[in-house]
Amino acid sequence: MQFENSFPFAEAMDNKDPLKIFRSYFYIPKDKQGQELIYLTGNSLGLQPKSTFDHINQELLDWEKYGVEGHLHAKNPWLPYHEFLTNSMADVVGAKPIEVVVMNTLSVNLHLMMVSFYRPTQRRFKIMIESDAFPSDKYAVQSQLRFHGFDVGEGLIELKPRSGEELLRTEDILESIEANGSELSLIILGNTNYYTGQAFDMKAITQAGHSVGSKVGFDCAHGAGNLLLDLHDTNCDFAVWCSYKYLNSGPGSLGGVFVHERHSHDTTIPRFEGWWGHNKSTRFGMRDDFDPMPGVEAWQLSNPPILSMAAIMSSLKIFAEARMERLRQKSEQLTGYMAYLVSELKNDSIKIITPSEPAHRGSQLSIQVKNADKKLFEWLASNGVVADWREPDVIRVAPVPLYNSYVDVHKFVELLNKGLVVHN
Ligand SMILES: *Cc1c(COP(=O)(O)O)cnc(C)c1O
Repeated sequence: MQFENSFPFAEAMDNKDPLKIFRSYFYIPKDKQGQELIYLTGNSLGLQPKSTFDHINQELLDWEKYGVEGHLHAKNPWLPYHEFLTNSMADVVGAKPIEVVVMNTLSVNLHLMMVSFYRPTQRRFKIMIESDAFPSDKYAVQSQLRFHGFDVGEGLIELKPRSGEELLRTEDILESIEANGSELSLIILGNTNYYTGQAFDMKAITQAGHSVGSKVGFDCAHGAGNLLLDLHDTNCDFAVWCSYKYLNSGPGSLGGVFVHERHSHDTTIPRFEGWWGHNKSTRFGMRDDFDPMPGVEAWQLSNPPILSMAAIMSSLKIFAEARMERLRQKSEQLTGYMAYLVSELKNDSIKIITPSEPAHRGSQLSIQVKNADKKLFEWLASNGVVADWREPDVIRVAPVPLYNSYVDVHKFVELLNKGLVVHN
């Protein structure tokens, strides 16, 4: 695709965009004058679909009308409600329905997965993670190490880029897996790093991990609804993600969990148990012994919050209509356009640290600002750009194919250019 650095070009791209209708499905936040903001933080909190109100309201009305009977008689009965989300969520992450469930929130699910898949012994107890992993993931693995009586300094293997580089090289990850082989118990990586936007080779990492006898899991918080995932084919043991970033399901909404099909009927896997993971045909018999559901549903603990699930249902309907393949296609172009426009600025005080090859990134670009003191970011915010600042010197922007336009991207880079002049 030949890009052009002009406003008419951006407008023409929007006009012929087969997914342009989807922007109108969302509320775009506005400034005090009523002008639409340039919203580039769908990687942090996705925008609200206009249909979400009605989906949540439906459940409020059914609760009003039926009380407890809504479990069976609501338009979407609450008892099996989570099942209504499974197929479309499985499509979004490239998994089989038996491998996917919506439950809890991300950090909680990460712990539940480690209860089952981090089973350290005195000889094999180490956990591998990115050195710049999302803080919550780091706290989770560190606390698991301590919980099992291990020293964090000894048990945590942190993957660091080579000196002078920002990104991890696949060959270095594989080498570290090999080098730590007999002591490695679990590899847990963000499938897209939240800071750099780097997407990892999940299949190669999983294969390497399994070949040395380690379990492998991925945090797909920045991958779900963004990259074309193929979790089943990746063959990893588990994955967790949230639904409020690219999946537009509202602040703090429930997370998703993947457990590979090969673990589906293994009743010996240790897990923390609750009644919602129990065989649903006898769940209300309130029997003494736990009879796990087949597949990942066995990890469910509680009956789930329906209001949050209603928001997820509304969002997943949009994904089913737009389809991940088409979204990813547009995303590569939209982010590619942004990267092109930024490079056209030919300004040495900024640098995109996200990989330049589309296969190694999602929507997000992380722009490193030399000698940054956050003023540029604040100037952008006061001029209608909603972006994200990460200490010490990175502005993260994510043009989201569902609701961002080429014009958004063009306007942002023009403002970035102006802001750089003002602050240099
Ligand atoms: C967003 C995000 C989280 C947030 O976890 P919650 O439990 O949903 O608050 C955790 N890890 C990563 C990698 C994230 O991107």
